[in-house]
Amino acid sequence: MKKIAIIRCLDVSMRCAGVSCMKSFNNHSVKFERYGDEELELFSMMTCNGCGQTVENDEGLKKKLDRLAEEPVNAVHFSSCTNKKDKENPEVKHRCPWVLKMAEYLESKGVEVVYGTHH
Ligand code: SF4
Repeated sequence: MKKIAIIRCLDVSMRCAGVSCMKSFNNHSVKFERYGDEELELFSMMTCNGCGQTVENDEGLKKKLDRLAEEPVNAVHFSSCTNKKDKENPEVKHRCPWVLKMAEYLESKGVEVVYGTHH
């Protein structure tokens, strides 16, 4: 059994119920296909703490990420909405820079990071 956490974009979470993430998780599809038939436990589905928040300036965010590392979860998926469409060119996407900082911190704690959930 693998313990999985999903971290979503706080901004997007104000208008998204997370259904597409959960469908992919429950169906072991798209970014969760990599686990095959292995049983999955959704250990946490949480949000970032907003733009500009890092483990260096936000104790609460550090506490949240440390909790995942302490369990430990087998992987943290950053939801597909953390890969933003370019305003000028919607074909191009940019990974949120604050997510990259969170990912770097999690990886330094030995947690596997996967980018994406439902696309
Ligand atoms: S830091 Fe990134 S993932 Fe978090 S609210 Fe801002 S854009 Fe969304």
